[in-house]
Amino acid sequence: MRIKRLRLTGFKSFVDPADLRIEPGLTGVVGPNGCGKSNLLEALRWTMGENSARSMRGAGMEDVIFAGTASRPPRDFAEVALLAERDGPDGPEESEIVRRIERGAGSAYRIDGRDVRARDVQLLFADAATGAHSPALVSQNRIGAVIAARPVERRAMLEEAAGIAGLHVRRKDAETRLRATEANLARLDELLADQT
Ligand code: ATP
Repeated sequence: MRIKRLRLTGFKSFVDPADLRIEPGLTGVVGPNGCGKSNLLEALRWTMGENSARSMRGAGMEDVIFAGTASRPPRDFAEVALLAERDGPDGPEESEIVRRIERGAGSAYRIDGRDVRARDVQLLFADAATGAHSPALVSQNRIGAVIAARPVERRAMLEEAAGIAGLHVRRKDAETRLRATEANLARLDELLADQT
């Protein structure tokens, strides 16, 4: 998967709409301290379905909404749109993934204009071997965290990189459904036994 474009509105320090085109090759973000470099990477992870406010350096998820400055009032919502390109059966396919959060209303996700669940977005990126926890997104402190990681954590990183992280989620879902079906079958057996 290739990320081609990022559009931010009201996300952290990006109060005015900002449009970032990501060209092929290595992308570096440079600028003075506090200009918003880490906020950009967080916007990317957030749109991929990050659900830990702490890892977005906030106390609650609404902290990603522009909080206001001495000269500008706070915003009521934040929205980030990400344009991704994937290899499809008939060549490259583009998808736009949008996450929006409104004060008091939580987050909503869309893929190509369709309302979807957070899980759909997380699976889309997990299947493409990327995502909010992808080792491809290297933020500050991350290198130290990789070195200090326990074997089980390293295995999770490798699974994420290999694109099989989504399979674990699907397996858990399938197991839950299987257990519910087994319970239904057991109940059915009881009812049949009562009738004979
Ligand atoms: P450094 O080089 O020091 O790591 P950086 O370029 O990575 O800095 P960021 O950490 O991305 O900078 O941005 C920090 C700035 O974002 C701070 O000025 C902070 O006030 C601002 N900021 C963070 N959250 C919000 C918010 N919700 N509303 C407004 N501004 C915010």
